[in-house]
Amino acid sequence: MSEADFDIIVVGSGCAGAVAAYVAASAGKSVLVVERGNYAGAKNMTGGRIYSHSLKEVFPNFEEEAPLERKITHERMAVMDPASSMTIDFTSPELAREGADSYSVLRGPFDQWLAEKAEEAGAEYICGIAVEELIKDESGKVIGVRAGEDEITASVTIVAEGVNTLLCERSLGNARPKASQMAVGIKEVFELPAGVIEDRFLVPEGEGAAMLFVGDATHGKVGGGFMYTNKESISLGLVATISTAADGANETPVYQMLEDFKNHPAVAPIIRGAKMVEHSGHMVPEGGYHMVPQYVFDGALVAGEAAGLCMNMGYQVRGMDFAVASGRMAAEAAVEALDAGDTSAAGLAGYKRRMEDSFVIKDLATFAKWPHVMEEWDAMFNDYPVMVREVFNAMFCVDGQPQQHLSKRIMPIVKKQGLFKLARDMRGALKAL
Ligand SMILES: Cc1cc2nc3c(=O)[nH]c(=O)nc-3n(C[C@H](O)[C@H](O)[C@H](O)COP(=O)(O)OP(=O)(O)OC[C@H]3O[C@@H](n4cnc5c(N)ncnc54)[C@H](O)[C@@H]3O)c2cc1C
Repeated sequence: MSEADFDIIVVGSGCAGAVAAYVAASAGKSVLVVERGNYAGAKNMTGGRIYSHSLKEVFPNFEEEAPLERKITHERMAVMDPASSMTIDFTSPELAREGADSYSVLRGPFDQWLAEKAEEAGAEYICGIAVEELIKDESGKVIGVRAGEDEITASVTIVAEGVNTLLCERSLGNARPKASQMAVGIKEVFELPAGVIEDRFLVPEGEGAAMLFVGDATHGKVGGGFMYTNKESISLGLVATISTAADGANETPVYQMLEDFKNHPAVAPIIRGAKMVEHSGHMVPEGGYHMVPQYVFDGALVAGEAAGLCMNMGYQVRGMDFAVASGRMAAEAAVEALDAGDTSAAGLAGYKRRMEDSFVIKDLATFAKWPHVMEEWDAMFNDYPVMVREVFNAMFCVDGQPQQHLSKRIMPIVKKQGLFKLARDMRGALKAL
């Protein structure tokens, strides 16, 4: 329709970019993907598990094709202090229900599969080169990208550069996220035979578990630990706020937190004898709804984490399903605008409409207060794990001394925290969650 080199250029081949490229190429548009990694997934990291609903919408047979690790059928949440751990363990057939199920993935193979799907649909790829700038015409409309020596033009540019929003800041004028809205994640992958993983996590053959930890995983700072079972490995890591990571007065650097987490009595037996085969670090946007920037521009759309689309609820971490859905919606809106011959911001407004009508913006809006509640909730990471340890010790330690009724053993422990404070904290959390 235009004299541009391509109908659509996609910057970045993570979940958002590859899906956008696949959807646009499948609709018959000429698509170029520029990925700075030497291959898709080379630089990407997740915990992690993907909730499958948005993937299924794009790839109805993904279960047969995608390099999935394990279907997650066991959910565990642990509260830990330096020496104790109390875990909630949940399993139900509903966790495996089609459309509500989730899978652990490793981003190297997973992102390469997504890129292959985009290429099979007709998208062209340039890897190993970063887009440095978006180019604009005299009216300010984005008309393509500058990557190295090359200027390549397109009617629509979809920016899916992930959490490090350098292009969006430099070329689209979006604000740099605040330090309080960002966290840093570090992760290691430990190899173990499939049967050993199943025995240690008490899961049936081929199924898997997701486990989140609050408290000592981050030495009482805001954040948490995670563990996901893959086919023949375990992904283990933690997420801490940038302010914790950058605080020179913090006596435990984040890498030491990870070492201590691995040596915690609740974690060490799970990875005993396992070989560490991968270590990675990555930022995570955690500001939620309030950090979503402008994502529709003249000639350009922003998708995935570049648009701040990520949620850490403490019991759920979601970014990939948002990235997949936003990539799909960006591509659909771009195709619609190309067909209508109007790729201005007004012509591309279908993206905003789709996003606002979908779970993406609705969920972020519903839980908009949670990041702030978590940031301010010191006791959840310090005092309450100690309280949990004392309560469960009171229940389970039998030493031959005459015992009082359970309520008499437990109430003094709970009262130490202050009943009013506890009730207020619980109410605040429940209202935000
Ligand atoms: C520790 C950790 C744990 C997480 N756990 C989970 C989880 O369990 N479940 C979940 O759903 N989400 C999780 N997330 C979040 C999830 O990983 C992200 O939300 C998701 O990967 C975002 O996808 P994206 O496509 O927007 O960005 P990315 O996957 O980061 O992809 C961006 C791509 O753009 C490329 N790129 C960047 N700049 C340029 C440029 N200038 N030119 C060319 N290419 C460029 C990058 O190389 C990359 O390939 C976790 C994140 C972290 C860090």
